[in-house]
Amino acid sequence: MSITKVAFIGLGNMGKPMAKNLIKAGFSLTVFDVVKDAVEELTAAGAKGASSIAEAVKGVQAVITMLPAGAHVSSVYRGENGVIANVPKGALFIDSSTIDVATSRAVNVAAAEAGMEMIDAPVSGGVGGAEAATLTFMVGGAESAFERSKPLLEKMGKNIVHAGGPGNGQAAKICNNMILGISMIAVSEAFVLAEKLGLEAQKLFDISSKSSGQCWSMTSYCPVPGPVPASPANRDYKAGFAVAMQLKDLRLSQEAAQKAGIATPLGAEATALYGLFDVAGHGHLDFSGIIKMIRGDKM
Ligand code: NAD
Repeated sequence: MSITKVAFIGLGNMGKPMAKNLIKAGFSLTVFDVVKDAVEELTAAGAKGASSIAEAVKGVQAVITMLPAGAHVSSVYRGENGVIANVPKGALFIDSSTIDVATSRAVNVAAAEAGMEMIDAPVSGGVGGAEAATLTFMVGGAESAFERSKPLLEKMGKNIVHAGGPGNGQAAKICNNMILGISMIAVSEAFVLAEKLGLEAQKLFDISSKSSGQCWSMTSYCPVPGPVPASPANRDYKAGFAVAMQLKDLRLSQEAAQKAGIATPLGAEATALYGLFDVAGHGHLDFSGIIKMIRGDKM
């Protein structure tokens, strides 16, 4: 039976545009968020608003969640008045939040025990990708759940990759974002060094973007204004992908590395640097703004 009735829980920066794309694609959506304004915005866009999780999941075939962190996901699914206790048997769960692997796997087990299939499907691509329905989904879970989720994910994203069993989507997400956090610092250090050596930023870009220093942090999100007009550096580091979000993902990577008993020294250093930038009051800035701290800018 194909999925037509869907509950969407968590209507923040990402959840809102993702939910709107599902409405546009013709799904019958019931939405819930603890923030009433968010529910009203989606109701105006064609969704049915709910005032509780139980009301949101009544009669649906699938539930999608886009929540801040593991504690929220755990309570929304497993809480006394949560999804598992109220949803019709056999519904499919899709959690697109970025959370720790252990919580993701624990919720998956709880869902399975209640007779429900679940995937973790964190995303990459930011608010722009959510609006344009071009997100990358990194999916962990059983093959059958992955196949069932595709008609929904395809309406919100462009690249949909099955990364393996439960929790592997989250594993892929935190590994990717650990690379991102480290590479942004590396690119920032190089541009600051170039400045001090009298090498123009545009010249370094022209050379490195076509040499072995090339990476996404340089060519898509260049931390100096000029070379990449769309990068946040050109709008005073307005996020984009906020420092607080990058720090959250780096911390998840370090938690996972500790549990796995491996050393990720550059991941640890990147976590420390973003932590310092965050406590200095810059958590809201785009994460490429870390170049200001590296340069020693007064802020
Ligand atoms: P957000 O804080 O804007 O949205 C989260 C929403 O969840 C809020 O509207 C909040 O009110 C709601 N919420 C919290 N607890 C709830 C509950 N118990 N019941 C119902 N609703 C509840 O966050 P976001 O930027 O939309 O990010 C969501 C997730 O996606 C996070 O895990 C984040 O790490 C991840 N992510 C974000 C981006 C990005 O660029 N913003 C990119 C990739 C992944």
